[in-house]
Amino acid sequence: MKKFAVIGHPIAHSKSPALHEAGFNELDIEASFTAIDIAPEDLASWISLNMIDYAGLAVTIPHKETIIPLVQKLSPAAQAIGAVNTLYWEHEVLHGTNTDCVGVLRALQSEVLNLEGKNVLLLGAGGAARAALFALQTSGANTTIWNRTSDKAVALADEFEADAAELLSALNPDKFDIVINSTAVGLKKWESILSADFWTPHHVAFDMVYDPLETRFLSEAADAGARTITGDQMLVHQALEQFHLWHKVELEPEVMGKAFFLADE
Ligand code: NAP
Repeated sequence: MKKFAVIGHPIAHSKSPALHEAGFNELDIEASFTAIDIAPEDLASWISLNMIDYAGLAVTIPHKETIIPLVQKLSPAAQAIGAVNTLYWEHEVLHGTNTDCVGVLRALQSEVLNLEGKNVLLLGAGGAARAALFALQTSGANTTIWNRTSDKAVALADEFEADAAELLSALNPDKFDIVINSTAVGLKKWESILSADFWTPHHVAFDMVYDPLETRFLSEAADAGARTITGDQMLVHQALEQFHLWHKVELEPEVMGKAFFLADE
């Protein structure tokens, strides 16, 4: 039986086992998927001792960057994003890639099929923002980045050929087609990084936060008539891409979509 796992620290609340096990059940794949807590200082020794037993790993915080030197071949996406969230073997070579960018792309495409030439406001400049920037850059969108710590927005804008904005209040909402929240604002709290009067019916609002799914950011956007995309879309689509890499089969998104909700019950 093939073994898979998600590694992180902490890891108890990861939905990855539930999403992937739902796929195993749906397609009768004989495999196991566990969650393994690895402290940062133990990562290198764990990989060298145990990776051989696993067909693939999902990698989450805080290991996404520190795992890079432990991988034998890095995909262009992982290289550009500077983070790995998926490990797999090919011809006995350990590959590292990043499927978060695919998650962002598919989530956005649920509302906007062609991103080329779209004007996007990206809020935040952390790891999730880097995955979004790679997806947006390769899709031909024009991105403006804002971040609380503005130096980081300027550095990211330079790296990904985007624009940086210093003041949120100075931005003209009409300039943007799509607004993405990749900050931690809204996580487990009823707060939004934008004021309610920012939104117009023209906007598509995407919140990466998925706990809760109904964030204040999305709720105020919807009240103004904007279309909305919830954070589970990104999570499910990045996991579907992992599933495809590991098992070389397509799984219906609804299978993991349903498992996302059941995992909380
Ligand atoms: P990260 O690397 O720690 O970055 C956090 C970002 O949030 C930074 O830009 C930080 O700004 C900003 N921030 C935090 N508190 C803030 C506040 N009070 N006001 C303004 N900005 C604030 O985290 P990440 O991995 O990018 O994750 C960011 C969010 O995306 C989290 O909510 C996470 O759950 C979500 N996420 C979702 C998915 C998915 O599949 N749906 C995947 C990955 C992440 P500074 O630079 O100024 O600190």
